[in-house]
Order: sequence, then structure tokens, then C-alpha cells
Amino acid sequence: MTSARSVDMDKLVSLCKRRGFIYQSSEIYGGLGSVWDYGPLGVELKNNVKAAWWRSMVWERDDVVGLDAAILMHPQTWVASGHVESFADPLVECKECNRRFRADDLEGDHCPECGGELTEPRMFNLMLRSFLGPVEDSAHQVYMRPETAQGIFVNFENVLTTTRRKLPFGIAQVGKAFRNEITPGNFTFRTREFEQMEMEYFVRPGTDDQWLHRWVDERFNWYKRLGIREENLRLRKHEPHELAHYAKECYDVEYFFPWGWAELEGIANRTDFDLKSHAEVSGRDLTYFDEETHERYYPYVIEPSGGIDRAALAFLVDAYDEEADPGHREVRTILRLHRDLAPVKVAVLPLSRNEKLVPTAHEVHAMLRPHLMAQYDDAQSIGRRYRRQDEVGTPYCVTVDFQTLEDRAVTIRERDSMEQIRVPIDSLLATLRQKLEQGW
Ligand code: ATP
Repeated sequence: MTSARSVDMDKLVSLCKRRGFIYQSSEIYGGLGSVWDYGPLGVELKNNVKAAWWRSMVWERDDVVGLDAAILMHPQTWVASGHVESFADPLVECKECNRRFRADDLEGDHCPECGGELTEPRMFNLMLRSFLGPVEDSAHQVYMRPETAQGIFVNFENVLTTTRRKLPFGIAQVGKAFRNEITPGNFTFRTREFEQMEMEYFVRPGTDDQWLHRWVDERFNWYKRLGIREENLRLRKHEPHELAHYAKECYDVEYFFPWGWAELEGIANRTDFDLKSHAEVSGRDLTYFDEETHERYYPYVIEPSGGIDRAALAFLVDAYDEEADPGHREVRTILRLHRDLAPVKVAVLPLSRNEKLVPTAHEVHAMLRPHLMAQYDDAQSIGRRYRRQDEVGTPYCVTVDFQTLEDRAVTIRERDSMEQIRVPIDSLLATLRQKLEQGW
């Protein structure tokens, strides 16, 4: 199988565009820097990534609940969180060509593009700003949240009282975040608008180290369970100088992208920094009363924080493969996506557009579509249609042929092995469901 390092990003980007996974934002106007739109297959992939995360973080656990906080928050939130003060990168500008760079990304002290002299670094806050209401002054300024986490902290008391939770417990959230990145790039890896999947897990102080390691294992294994090859995943512990202002210890789950190892997700011990800080700035008591020890304290927080766009990109890169097709006439491009992530679960393909086959093929499609993402395709030869489905990662194709008209059975073909089995239409849905749960 193609190694992740040798995946040609140009080919993957072109497949993403050609097949409707990812388009450049506002392309008809020349695009908007580092903002991307997800097409018909991309939105399915992203929804599947989110659903897989939600299932493992919320549904399958009895110690985590969900939340969907608003993107816009009271501006004081970002004072308390430290973002107004310190969510900034050092920006330098070339005096010759006026290009801008993040000073900590540069190796030398000259412009990497033209060799020109650079300005002194100045700190550049990454938060995007807007105004609420008709008056555009500083009293009405709001921020587009740069992370979803703060929506969880400010709702800690609400969730605690409405769900009567006891420590340890977590609050999970999926949603958009915005950062005015200085040097975005690598397709959807670093963008200015993206989605995060974050969970804040509140624990008794003193148990935080142990919980950090449990969550690091859990999150690392989630990527493996969804099919990322282990050799392309690693954990990296942050050096003390890399730690964010709130963190005691942090690990990154990294993926071996074609341009090298890069972060998919950070798992940090945020201590009691956020709750304490919000309590101070808001004047509300955000401590927790421990009924066992009869103490009041600020819980410590373990935070797994991942990006959906980055995860989706890693799943795409890892799944991308090319192989000589059995007839050696052309290359077979396959997205070997895990069946839970594949945008289309099953394609229904009549052998041809013959008028005798079409009604039965439509009947099969209509039977499947309320239950799973099923596509109907009758354009071009059956071989080409199989290739088209392989290229977008569809795990199963169902073919309706002339024999179907006699025996009411169809063929299921599996994407990776290209093996085929024949099943009665009456048991098709049950068979597909079982395969989608357990694999071929
Ligand atoms: P980086 O060092 O790559 O800028 P970070 O350490 O600032 O990332 P966090 O603040 O820990 O990132 O954000 C948590 C997760 O959110 C990241 O692991 C990543 O998956 C995602 N993320 C952060 N910034 C971006 C971005 N600009 N584009 C896409 N995803 C992002």
C-alpha cells in the first residue's frame, strides 16, 4: 500500500476537488486565503468523523455529556482565558517584498523568499473580531471564538447543576473556531476557519496525572481504530518551553503527513487555570463541593482537543492508494477509508441501462436509502463505475444483473479485496448492515 509520505498531495487535492470533497472557498472570486468549503462527499466525510468522535466520547461513556455553545461569547471570556493578552504569534515583515512570516517558523534572520531584511517581530493577536449591534466601537466588539473550550468552562456550573454530575466527568463539544493564522497552508491542515472536537474532563486535583495518561491512550487509539496505520501515528510530549500558559503537561498525537510529522490533536492538563480565572473575572463561585471529602475546590481539567479538518485530511492521506488494476490497463485509485468514515456506504449499479434492469435497480436503491447513504449510478461501463466508487472510498457496490430478474439475488462487491458474493435482495439490507458493523 502507498506510504503516507509518498502520497502526492497534488493528486489528492485534485481528487478532492474533482470528486466533490473539498473546494476552495469563494472560488469564482479567486478564492479566500486558507478557507475551504466541503462538497457533497466532503460534508459526509466530516459528518462521519464528528459522529465517530461523538459516539466514542459521549454515547459510549457514562461520564461525558455534550454541549453546543454559541460561537460568539461575552468579550470578558477572552480576557479571563488569557487570549486577549497572549493568543498572539510573533509577526515579521520583509522590508523588500512585504511578505509576512511567523518569526518562530523562520530559520535565519532574512526573508526566505527574497533574502531581504526583516522588520523586528511584533506580536499579532490571532483572534478575529467583529461588532455586535449597529455601533462599531470597542464597547461592542466581540471575538469569533478561537477555540470551543471556553464555551464549556463558562457553562461548567450550568451543566453541573442540571445534570447533577460527580467528578470525574467531562463535557464534549464540536464546533467552528477561527484564527487569523499568519502562515496558513498545507491544504486544509492550517486554515482560518476550522472545526474542533474538544472535551474538558474535570477531575479531583491529584488524580490529574493519571487521567491525562488515560486520555492520551484513549485518543491515540481512536485514530488507530478508525484505520490510520500505526506507523504513521506518534505521540510527542511537549517540552517545558512549548507548554501553553495554562498547561502543566501536554502530548500531541501527530500524523506523518507527506510534508512531515504534524499535530492532529493535543491532550493537555490545563490544571484549574480556566475555572479559577473565570471565577475571578466573573465573580461567580465555580468551585465544586466534593461530598465524599466535604471539601470545596476547583477541579483540574484534562483536555483532548482535536481538529476535524485535520483529522479528515489525515484519514484521506492515509486511505489514498494506487494499484495496478488486474488487467494492468490503468491504475486503480482507492480511498481505503474505514467503513464508518466512507461518505457513501453502498452504490447500487445496474449492469447496464437496459430497461428490464432499471426498475429492479431503483427498487433496491429505494429500499436501502432510508437506512444508509446509498448512491445510484448507471453512467458508463460497470468497470468504470466500480473505479469511480473505489476512488471515493465506497466500501460496497451492489450490482443488479439479468440473473437478478430470475433469482431476486444481487452481487455485493467489496472495495479493497474486490471479492464478490451473491445475496438475495430480501437479506441485502441485513447483510450490508452486518458488514458495515463488522467488516467484510
Ligand atoms: P498549531 O501548533 O498547529 O498551530 P495549536 O497547538 O495552536 O496548533 P490547539 O490550540 O491545540 O492547536 O488546537 C487544537 C486542535 O485544533 C489542533 O490540534 C488542530 O487539530 C486544530 N487546529 C488548530 N488550529 C487550526 C487551524 N488553523 N486549522 C485547522 N485546524 C486547527
